[in-house]
Amino acid sequence: MSSRIYFDHSATTPLDPRVLEAMAPFLGGAYGNPSSLHQEGRVARAAVDRARAQVATLIGATQAEIIFTASGTEADNLALIGAVRASGKSGHVVTSAIEHAAILETCKFLASGGTKITHLPVDTEGLVRPDGLLRTLQSTVTVVSVMAANNVVGTIQPIEELAQLTKLHGVLFHTDAVQAGGKIPLDVNRLQVDLLSLSAHKLHGPKGVGALYIRKGAQLSPIVFGGGQERGLRSATENVTGIVGFGAAAELARKELTEEAARLAGLREYIAAEILRNFPQAYLFGHPTERLPGHLSLGFRGQEREVGKLLEALDQAGAAVSAGSACSANHSGEPSSVLLAMGYDAESARGLIRISLGRFNTQHEVDRFLDVLSSAVSALPAAAVSASLPGLANPAEVAFA
Ligand code: PLP
Repeated sequence: MSSRIYFDHSATTPLDPRVLEAMAPFLGGAYGNPSSLHQEGRVARAAVDRARAQVATLIGATQAEIIFTASGTEADNLALIGAVRASGKSGHVVTSAIEHAAILETCKFLASGGTKITHLPVDTEGLVRPDGLLRTLQSTVTVVSVMAANNVVGTIQPIEELAQLTKLHGVLFHTDAVQAGGKIPLDVNRLQVDLLSLSAHKLHGPKGVGALYIRKGAQLSPIVFGGGQERGLRSATENVTGIVGFGAAAELARKELTEEAARLAGLREYIAAEILRNFPQAYLFGHPTERLPGHLSLGFRGQEREVGKLLEALDQAGAAVSAGSACSANHSGEPSSVLLAMGYDAESARGLIRISLGRFNTQHEVDRFLDVLSSAVSALPAAAVSASLPGLANPAEVAFA
């Protein structure tokens, strides 16, 4: 292992060696197609079935309710487009203003075909308010989609409450749990969600494999057509190796979740406390307690425009963290749309630094990181502004299109 410090687990996670071990036979000798009826095919089918059970167990679902996809993005697309198509109408999708692009861009696509889209606002901590959802809900809504945890600020949404309200109107509820999966307890029956997206590479599994939980009875139309695999909802020869890795990763995450969440939350609190103690200009984004265990996002007041330089200096000193999400344009100095939606002004929304910890991070790495951060921040031009507030715009001025 290199001595680099990797604190960008919200972007992706390293493959757990135990997952690699589970995948190895399917990269070599076990190459059968799960649809084949001979022995090679049966071996592959059994492996896919086992992985389906492992993923289902992570979220309290049954095997029959899990469809494997090629990514979390595809699971999100299938949930929303599939629900609208199955409704036979142009439909109405209600979502939040801070969803991942996998949801927001899918909504744009649906809007171009006549679907009505409503974006629910969030408060300054990134929470969707149940009363906001209540005002929008009507039985004519096709599906409500609110992420379980945000990728940029780490805020965990009150999914159980939102799903219960949605259910009262007989409307489908989807949650994008790509960031939350394997990190916080998720039980589809307790949460009462109908659809839930997961992605293997966020929980120390391989890239390019995701899953959609579809509650028995929920109606979806496919978005990929072909040989009818995955109950006709996702045609294509299964990515057996990836699926096996996903299953192994899901099982490990489930078994280690409680202990690991406590450990990561402890490291996060330590980093936060040290940064706030050492840098008076530092401030935190997101919810103080309702947040992913290993996720911290912060800014340095008056130095927001220096984020690019800061991340570069950290990278050169051996530490990988990010500015907002891996898929955002933050490196080009664009303000984070998530922070804008939370009511921050453009200046503060440019300054977000995301630190996201994972399974193999240690206290020693955290201490090394704090040293490296100290030198990198000291090398920046001094904080120019001594504003007392971290640049909250008037939330009423923020448009939620
Ligand atoms: N949804 C959220 C909340 C994410 O953070 C991500 C990835 O960053 C995705 C969806 C997309 O998942 P994938 O990379 O598997 O397509």
